[in-house]
Amino acid sequence: MLVHGTCPHDCPDSCGWQVTVEGGHAVQVRGNPAHPYSAGELCPKVNRFLDRVYSPDRVLTPLRRVGTKGSAEFEPIDWEDALALIAERFRDAIARHGPESIVPYSDAGNQSLLATMFPERFWNALGASRLLRALCGPTVGAGVSMTYGTGLCLDPLELVHARLVVLWGTNTKLTNRHLWPTIEAARSAGARIVVIDPLRTVTAEAADWFLQPLPGTDVALCLAMMHVLIRDRLVDQAWVDAHTVGYAELAAHVAEWTPERAAAVCGLDAADIVELATQYGTVRPAAIRTLIGAEHHENGAMFYRTLACLPALVGAWRDRGGGLARSVGSWADPLIDGAALTRPDLRPNGIPRQLNMSHLGRLLNDPTLDPPVAALLVWNANPMVSTPNVEAIRRGLSRDDLFTVCHEQFLTDTARFADIVLPATTQIEALDVTPAWGHLWLGWNEPAIEPCGEAVSNSELFRRLARAMGMTDPCLFDDDATALAAALPTVDLAALRQTGWQRVPYPADGRPYADGAFPTVSGKVELRSEQLVALGQPALPTFVAPFEGPGSARAERFPFQLLTPKHHQRFLNSGYSHLPAHGGREGGPFVEICPADAARLGVADGQAVEVFNDRGCVPVPVRISARVRPGVVAIPWGWWGRHHGNGQVANSLTNDTLTEWGGGVAYSDTLVGVRPA
Ligand code: SF4
Repeated sequence: MLVHGTCPHDCPDSCGWQVTVEGGHAVQVRGNPAHPYSAGELCPKVNRFLDRVYSPDRVLTPLRRVGTKGSAEFEPIDWEDALALIAERFRDAIARHGPESIVPYSDAGNQSLLATMFPERFWNALGASRLLRALCGPTVGAGVSMTYGTGLCLDPLELVHARLVVLWGTNTKLTNRHLWPTIEAARSAGARIVVIDPLRTVTAEAADWFLQPLPGTDVALCLAMMHVLIRDRLVDQAWVDAHTVGYAELAAHVAEWTPERAAAVCGLDAADIVELATQYGTVRPAAIRTLIGAEHHENGAMFYRTLACLPALVGAWRDRGGGLARSVGSWADPLIDGAALTRPDLRPNGIPRQLNMSHLGRLLNDPTLDPPVAALLVWNANPMVSTPNVEAIRRGLSRDDLFTVCHEQFLTDTARFADIVLPATTQIEALDVTPAWGHLWLGWNEPAIEPCGEAVSNSELFRRLARAMGMTDPCLFDDDATALAAALPTVDLAALRQTGWQRVPYPADGRPYADGAFPTVSGKVELRSEQLVALGQPALPTFVAPFEGPGSARAERFPFQLLTPKHHQRFLNSGYSHLPAHGGREGGPFVEICPADAARLGVADGQAVEVFNDRGCVPVPVRISARVRPGVVAIPWGWWGRHHGNGQVANSLTNDTLTEWGGGVAYSDTLVGVRPA
C-alpha cells in the first residue's frame, strides 16, 4: 500500500512523500514524483526517515523521572497516572501563582497545522502564558512589513525569469535544495548568480560571484548600494515617485554611506560594492532571494526592512521575476482560519502575558518574574540545543520547584530534564495538513501506520490533557478531521486528500506588486516609516553596530565572532544528529577557523580547543577552513550534549539579546575566545 504524506520538518521545501506499508509496517519513504515542487526527491536525512520511526531509542511509553534532573533516569508510567500527575501539578501551579505561571514552549519541530496550532486551544482555555515564537522567520517578516506593510513577497519559482539573482544570506543548495534547479534554470537562460554570505557555503561555491561581508554588516552594505544607485542615477525615478514615500530623506541619509565607508565596515572592497550596485541597478529583471539566518543580529529586523527598500529603488517589482523573494508562508493565510483552530476567544482573562521564547533561560532564572514559571510543557522543540544561552536554560530546568513535561520522540537534551516525558508520534503516524514556506502548495499528510507504542499526536495529547484537567468546552475534544475542517473552511479537504496538495492563491502574472500598491498606511513602499518612529526606532534604514560585536569592549576578552550555521546534509536543527546513520556519518562537531587565525593561535587541524565566553565553554576539534574569514569562527549547530566532552553545545555560547525590534534574537552577535584544550 502506498500512502501519501508531507515532510513536516523546519525546512522551506515541505516535500511530498509516499510511504510504502506492508502488513501495517512502513518499509519505505520516498519522494512523491508527482509533487509539483519536490518532484520525487527528498533529502539525505529524510530518505532514511524510517530510521527515526523505528529507532530503538524512541520513547514509546510515558516516563516519570526517578533520578536528578538532567540525569535521564526515568521509569515507565501509564498514561492515566502521567496525566493525573500533570493535572495535579498544573492545578497546584494555578492555585499558587495563577494560570500564567504555566508556560507552553514549542516551535517548528513539526510545522503542520494540527501539530502547531491545535494545542493553542488548550492553552487559551487554561489562561496560560503565551509564547512569542520568533527565533527566526517572524523577525524577517516584521522587518519586511515595515517597508511593504506585509511580509508577502515573490514566489521563489519566479526567479527563473530573473537575469540577476542575488542570494543574500541564504545557503540554497543546502537548506532549500529544491529551489536550486530553478536557480540553475535562470542561469542557463542568462542570469548571473551572486551570493552574499559571511560564510563561503556550498551555494557560494556554485555562484558566479561571491561577496563575503563580515557578519551583521548587511545593513551598511545595503546603504552603500543605495548611495551608488542614487549617485549614479540608476534609480527608477518614475517608479519611485509613484510608489514610495520618503525618497528625498533617504537620498540625503545615504549620502554619507559611500562605498569606501561601507567597505571598511563590511570588510569588502569599495569597488565590489560599486559593481554590485551597478549590476543591481542595470540588469533586469533583478531578484533578491533571502530566507532566514541574517536576522540573527541585533539589527536583524532592520536589515530586512532595509533590504526590502532596494527593489523599490530600481523598480524591480515591475518585472516578472524581479523583486524580493523570502518565505511565502503568508500566501496561505487566506485559506487558514487560525482563530478557528486556536480559539483565542476561550481565554478566561483577556490577553495573557507574552514571553519571548529566546529568553527561556532568563525567564526560568528570574527571581522577579511575577508570576514565576512554575510549570513548563515542551513539545515540537529542543531548547537545550536550539535556543540561545543554553547554560542559563540548563540552570533553569534544574530548578527543583519547576515542573517540566516534554512530549517527545526521543530523550533529547531537554527531555532529560523533564519530570514527565510523554511519547510523541512521527509524521507517518498522524493526520495533518502541512503548509509550506518555500513554495505555494499546502500538503496533505495521511497517517500511514498506527502510532508506535503508546505514542500520541500533538492534538491527541492536548485532548487528553484537557480531559485530565476537567475542562469542558467541546472544541477541546474535536477530532482531527473536525479541527482541520474548521481551520481550512474554503478548502475541499476531500480533494486535498485525494491529490495530496493544493496551490494557494498567488497573482496569475507572477507579479505581486505589478500595480505598485502596497498595504502600508500610505499605500506605498515606506522608505521612511512612521511605524518605526512610533516604536522609537529610526524612520530611515539605519546601521547600528551590535553591542556584542567586533570593536566592542567585549572583543578584548573574546576576539572572535561566532557563527552557528546549518552545515549538515544528514541532520536538521537538533533532529537526526543522535541517529547513527545521520549524525554518526557527519563525524561529530568541530569549530572552523581560517588558516591565518589558526596560525596565530598556534593550533593545527584536528587539534582539540575550547571555544569559550562568559556563557559557556565548548570543547571541539579545529577544522582549518577557508569558509570563514579572519576574526570569524563557526561551529555548525545541532549536535547534542552527548557529542561534546562536557555536555555543552554550540548554543551554550550564543547571545540571547533580542533584536532592536521584531522580537528576534541575536544568536550571531556572539563573541568568543579560542584556546588550546
Ligand atoms: S527536510 Fe526539507 S528537503 Fe528534506 S525531505 Fe523534508 S522538506 Fe524535503
